[in-house]
Amino acid sequence: MQLRYNFRVYPTPGQRQALAKAFGCARTVFNDALRAREAARAAGLPYLSDAELSKLVITQAKRTPDRAWLAEVSAVVLQQALADLNTAYRNFFASAMGRRKGRKVAAPKFRSRKDSRQAVRFTRNARFQVTAGRRLRLPKVGDLRVRWSRALPSEPSSVTVIRDAAGRYFASFVVEATDTPLPETTGEVGIDLGLTHFAVLSDGRKIADPRILRRAERRLRKAQRVLSRKQRGSANRAKARARVAKLHARVADTRRDHAHKLSTMLIRDNQAVYVEDLNVAGLGGTRLAKSVHDAAWAQFTAMLEYKAARYGRTFAKIGRFEPTSQICSVCGVKDGPKPLNVRIWTCGACGTIHDRDVNAAKNVLAAGRADSLNACGAQVRPGSVPAPRGEAGTRSKPAPTGVR
Ligand SMILES: [Zn+2]
Repeated sequence: MQLRYNFRVYPTPGQRQALAKAFGCARTVFNDALRAREAARAAGLPYLSDAELSKLVITQAKRTPDRAWLAEVSAVVLQQALADLNTAYRNFFASAMGRRKGRKVAAPKFRSRKDSRQAVRFTRNARFQVTAGRRLRLPKVGDLRVRWSRALPSEPSSVTVIRDAAGRYFASFVVEATDTPLPETTGEVGIDLGLTHFAVLSDGRKIADPRILRRAERRLRKAQRVLSRKQRGSANRAKARARVAKLHARVADTRRDHAHKLSTMLIRDNQAVYVEDLNVAGLGGTRLAKSVHDAAWAQFTAMLEYKAARYGRTFAKIGRFEPTSQICSVCGVKDGPKPLNVRIWTCGACGTIHDRDVNAAKNVLAAGRADSLNACGAQVRPGSVPAPRGEAGTRSKPAPTGVR
């Protein structure tokens, strides 16, 4: 399976300039191509093919005076920007025609110099390499100093260089990693993802967000309030914005770290892991709190999914066709809806006293077991799962810093 390995890099001022140029050129090609496709559509002309587009916005553009500077960066960077646009279009069309699972994908949007995340991708064609001195050599940029926090398991097929909103630089390598099944265990676990705890397990364990994360989130909210009071265009506003970006990055890093530790533990200790398919619509809380938790859960379940595939475990999401918090996990009687403030309830049929979240997690486990037995009369294992590929510039979320 393909995995991403991310490392912090420290470009010199000169390399930063070269990278800024590469970001700018990639953005220009992406935007020119998007504009060309939109113009063609508005004029009722046929959809421009990838090859026609490449000729138009790269090859021919380089010969014009106002795009001649595109030649100053690696051609691969430009082709990859175009590849990003084509992927965005493909996802959009597939989603619009119902051929793609999950949330609706929006049409490609123009990139901006002000986007919080700037990125360029170098493939093997670009002849990037890790030098004998353990630096990352990029064409027309130079040899970047890398903090290697672990070894790459194999030769990378591409590297994306990212600058995040906090001004940090990362190199994200795509490598082919072989699956390494762990010895089988008998453990099975159902997980309920909620707002009172990050996760509640069917064995009764409740996992809260780490205190350090809550503290960081509090600081971030405060910094956001400060920012909102600063006058537009002022130097103080810029300073406040930089602080928000920095705290944001810290929260994201801490959250990811926590999710990695928890998902690794769950996959190591259990042969099968079941999670309720995310549906936060029915949960309370403000819209912001929901979107934060939504993103955190999506990240966590994605980790569970690829780690399960990699280590030979079963992972499944349980559909929300039955309200897991209303059914007694002991006798199976549906006890009716309960307001969110009801944390403990007694089953009217069998008299069992339930912790709302643990009961839900037990139901997730039971549903997961039933599903995997139904699938073909025996325990099934999911096939190989593609690595989570948050590729260059297609998302505006902060850069990931670790795949374990
Ligand atoms: Zn009962």
